[in-house]
Amino acid sequence: MIDLIQNFLSENAPLKSNSKTVGFISVEGTPVEMPFTFINGVKPGKSILITGGVHGGEYPCIETAIQLANELEPASIKGTILIIHPVNPAAFLARMQYYGPYDGKNLNRVFPGKATGTVSERIAYQVHQFQQAADFYLDLHGGDIHEALVPFVIYSKLGSPEKSEEARLASALLGFPYVVGSVSENGSIGAAAKAGTPGFLAELGQCGRWSFAEVDQYKAAVLNVLRSFEVIPGEVQHSNVEFLDKMLVTTATAEGCWYPAVHLEQRVIKGEKLGEIRDFFGKVKAEYFADADGIVLYLVTSLAIMENDPLAAIGVSI
Ligand SMILES: [Zn+2]
Repeated sequence: MIDLIQNFLSENAPLKSNSKTVGFISVEGTPVEMPFTFINGVKPGKSILITGGVHGGEYPCIETAIQLANELEPASIKGTILIIHPVNPAAFLARMQYYGPYDGKNLNRVFPGKATGTVSERIAYQVHQFQQAADFYLDLHGGDIHEALVPFVIYSKLGSPEKSEEARLASALLGFPYVVGSVSENGSIGAAAKAGTPGFLAELGQCGRWSFAEVDQYKAAVLNVLRSFEVIPGEVQHSNVEFLDKMLVTTATAEGCWYPAVHLEQRVIKGEKLGEIRDFFGKVKAEYFADADGIVLYLVTSLAIMENDPLAAIGVSI
């Protein structure tokens, strides 16, 4: 990790232990400059990658990453921590939902990226270099500008059984109520897991808002995970979480107006109605039903819906 970061520094002096370095990671062949903070601890230990703002409209995670970068001190750290805050500054400044402004792609759907691809693919490619150099990856997300959610964590099942289990147990230490497994290959944590780095994607906050209370909760959750890796000192807190097998996302088959029929954390049974899309005259265009028994983890809250947009996701019990 140190070698990779060294490439983005103007001076050639090697990064010393017990130091904090800030700067920008230039994504080759693009105008993108990702703000980063690299903390080289006072003793050897694990190498941790934390990203916030893969999606530009998810504010609590971005502020959490910024505050962690400011507050973590190398003198109390064993190992190294790279924080990117945010990964997608142009999407953040443009207040974009899901997508990036340069190519209209969802950054979390193009991992592991391409060195010679579009801007989003090149960002993913750069982040993937850091993922490969890390021992663990924390990807901080939240509900987007138009999404409501109950806090939950997704871990990738694509790694070895041991690393997948490490990711599952670390996910639970965030203390968010639900932990769900994923086999998605083109998301950030899937690409990391396939490259041998366990990790999770955390979801906290929603609907284009943020508060200091949410950021405090998010920071405390991340610090608890860092304690479990002995990267920072202190006692690890354990809380009761519900482990779920997988998440089923229902996507829109038509554009129009979206009317959910369920609420967050509602337990639904297979076949239960999740909502419907109507046209501008109030005529029902499509109805959506749960594909399995589960619990509603997120819901799109905007009236506006485009075809292929997510509508809702349910976590399915093990
Ligand atoms: Zn996100």
